[in-house]
Amino acid sequence: MDFEFTLEQEAWRKEVRSFLESEISKGTFKPMVDGWIQGYSPEFTKKVAARGWIGLTWPKQYGGQGRSHTDRLILTEEMLRYGAPAACHWFADRQIGRAILAYGTEEQKQELLPKILAGEAYVGLGMSEPQAGSDLASLKTRAVQDGDYYVVNGQKMWTSCARFMTHVYLVARTDPDAPKSRGISEFVIDAKTPGITIRPTIDITNSEAWGEVFYDNVRVHKKYLIGEKNRGFYQILNQLDYERAGLERLMGNYVLYDAILKYTKETRRRGKPICEEPGVRTRLAQLGVEFEVGRLLTYRVIQVMEKGISPNVEAAMAKWYCTTFEQHLGTVATDILGLYGQLWKESKWAPIAGLAPHSFLASKGYSLQGGTNEVLKNIVATRGLGLPSST
Ligand SMILES: Cc1cc2nc3c(=O)[nH]c(=O)nc-3n(C[C@H](O)[C@H](O)[C@H](O)COP(=O)(O)OP(=O)(O)OC[C@H]3O[C@@H](n4cnc5c(N)ncnc54)[C@H](O)[C@@H]3O)c2cc1C
Repeated sequence: MDFEFTLEQEAWRKEVRSFLESEISKGTFKPMVDGWIQGYSPEFTKKVAARGWIGLTWPKQYGGQGRSHTDRLILTEEMLRYGAPAACHWFADRQIGRAILAYGTEEQKQELLPKILAGEAYVGLGMSEPQAGSDLASLKTRAVQDGDYYVVNGQKMWTSCARFMTHVYLVARTDPDAPKSRGISEFVIDAKTPGITIRPTIDITNSEAWGEVFYDNVRVHKKYLIGEKNRGFYQILNQLDYERAGLERLMGNYVLYDAILKYTKETRRRGKPICEEPGVRTRLAQLGVEFEVGRLLTYRVIQVMEKGISPNVEAAMAKWYCTTFEQHLGTVATDILGLYGQLWKESKWAPIAGLAPHSFLASKGYSLQGGTNEVLKNIVATRGLGLPSST
């Protein structure tokens, strides 16, 4: 099997790198950890859009570039390597635009896709509720049809991008009498619609990247229903595969990974770089192995996508493995840095710009968001290995 990229793909990687390096040198952004999910920079997103790099794989007919999933993989790999603040467009580019392309009406495509491609529509993901996370089908938020409108009432939590979103992807129950997975529908709506209230969630890292969103008699025109009424749950399953599929599950903290490798080479103890101490060396080697395995598992997902197949088991396997690596990275980095490694970036004494505490804490949530490890292992067991389901 050939794991090399083609000359064209390598040239494309160079093009992305030189763009990112030039934006760093112009001061558009400073490399950060979690940039894909917490780095909100409308300026950066506009620049990416201007190059046609949002919707890279979407059909040309709808303003995309019609390029391969491998090209998008390279683009995202470099964005993550340089810690780019790409959260404004990431969710719409990765999954919601794709959902609109797959299930949306022509009118929805004409209205929403150009805004995403222009880097002007930031879409938050509104699925989970206080009593519905892993078991999404038990969600309670209702959308009751009233003529040409749906009236939405309910509460979502952990809606990504909540503070910044211009649009929200909403999953709501449209038939309370149907079996629970059958009466659910998907919508993409303007986040400024009257009746929507957003309350930021302050997470373990003090970030407000997510929020609770309350829907109080929100009137949504039926033209914003995506796909078939009451069939939303089946559409979501496909969309979740794309949510889990990318390198962001492995490289969200690449800036820290790179920094800790440099730190251990440059910091000397008893006359030697600390990367040569056996305790440090074995842990870095273990991280290196895990990183490469995670990378190949994600490349495998892309190979499946190139065949036009939804990467279900492959994405579950990669996300579980890769987020475990990221948690391991946060722990190893914090251990190596010692007590000072616990200082936040605001402290002048914090080594490697205080990157480690953020990753150590934020990574706890990685194995919950987008599907918990247990749920992902169930997918691998039942759909991948054909083991019997426990439910
Ligand atoms: C940082 C972060 C970001 C998030 N971002 C978003 C977002 O953008 N949009 C959004 O809609 N949601 C988001 N979520 C919510 C996330 O999808 C849910 O937290 C997740 O699906 C788990 O649901 P829950 O928290 O209700 O836990 P529960 O579903 O109650 O699970 C509790 C525990 O039980 C286990 N469990 C549950 N069911 C099974 C089963 N069938 N077999 C074995 N074990 C099981 C779980 O693995 C877990 O350990 C985010 C969450 C976090 C922490």
